[in-house]
Amino acid sequence: SLVLGIETSCDETGAGLVRDGVLLGEGLASSADEHARFGGVVPEVAARAHVSAVTPMVRAAVEAAGVSLSDIDAVAVTAGPGLSPALHVGVAAAKAYAAALEVPLYGVHHLAGHAAVDVLGHGPLPDRCVCLIVSGGHTSLLALGDLARDPVEHLGDTVDDAAGEAFDKVARLLGLPYPGGPSVSRAALDGDPAAIAFPRPMTGPRDAAFGFSFSGLKTAVARHVEAAQDAGRAVPVPDVAASFQMAVVDVLVRKALRACAERGADTLLMVGGVAANRVLRTEMERACAGAGITLRVPVPRLCTDNGAMIAALGDLLVRDGVEPAGLGGTAVPTVPLTGATITFPPATG
Ligand code: ATP
Ligand code: MG
Ligand code: FE
Repeated sequence: SLVLGIETSCDETGAGLVRDGVLLGEGLASSADEHARFGGVVPEVAARAHVSAVTPMVRAAVEAAGVSLSDIDAVAVTAGPGLSPALHVGVAAAKAYAAALEVPLYGVHHLAGHAAVDVLGHGPLPDRCVCLIVSGGHTSLLALGDLARDPVEHLGDTVDDAAGEAFDKVARLLGLPYPGGPSVSRAALDGDPAAIAFPRPMTGPRDAAFGFSFSGLKTAVARHVEAAQDAGRAVPVPDVAASFQMAVVDVLVRKALRACAERGADTLLMVGGVAANRVLRTEMERACAGAGITLRVPVPRLCTDNGAMIAALGDLLVRDGVEPAGLGGTAVPTVPLTGATITFPPATG
């Protein structure tokens, strides 16, 4: 079957068309430029951009795939988590397509979509694996079974900031543009990752084995920047960026490898926007190779938000015969990752 996926949880408007694990077409627009001067995503601005972009992106996906709307057999949409006004645009659009085309609608969890997208590049997921999700709003180590059906087991989550959030906040501290991940990693190219010994939070023997904490690291960067300014020295932006980046990477690599060892996992799936980071990919690959673990990471373009990931997950659900949602619900801005689908709460009133 041909599955249309729609993603509008943050500032990317994405549409994707997937059939049997193959990406046929995509449309992707971003309102990131409109948020840049605010240093972060403004929900109402993002929602308006989704309203303008959502049907053109679906049209772009349909044209790229060389199909017509009437060929679509099911629609999947990010139902949560995300920015409330942004999510509602995608959910409303997806309902309209599903109703007009008389096809089933799946409300899916955005983070499960981040994981599912790897199927498009690397084929079916193994029966079980450890998954590291590193995104703008989440950082978790998970034990995954069948992504479409099985409950997701959380081995550990961040107790404060997500890894991507730390990149975004450090970018602001260093006067680098939003989104912070790409700009910090670009600045880091000219820096020395060993220049500043930033802390590696939660890696001590008495810390929660698979928990993360990145807010203290951000504070350490802030203190370093302030100290330089107070002393009338120029902030060594490339060195700070490179040293911060290496601290994050070091923590993620250590914890992910520890989780794989504990669970006896031979595959590590690394997903989410921060998984686009070049140094993280290189260091994780090196560590996994040394430990005999197969590392699966989507191509960088598919790590950040897009419609293909939601279509990929919808395709898994359809092929697994999972029951679709009705058309009577609304988006759920805050929802933990317990499984692939989200039951839409009925609209009240
Ligand atoms: P979530 O998926 O948790 O709801 P989100 O959808 O906003 O959050 P993603 O699109 O998955 O997040 O990822 C965006 C995040 O990834 C941002 O914090 C961004 O700074 C970070 N990011 C993107 N590219 C890179 C990179 N090359 N290096 C580091 N971080 C990056
Ligand atoms: Mg984004
Ligand atoms: Fe995301």
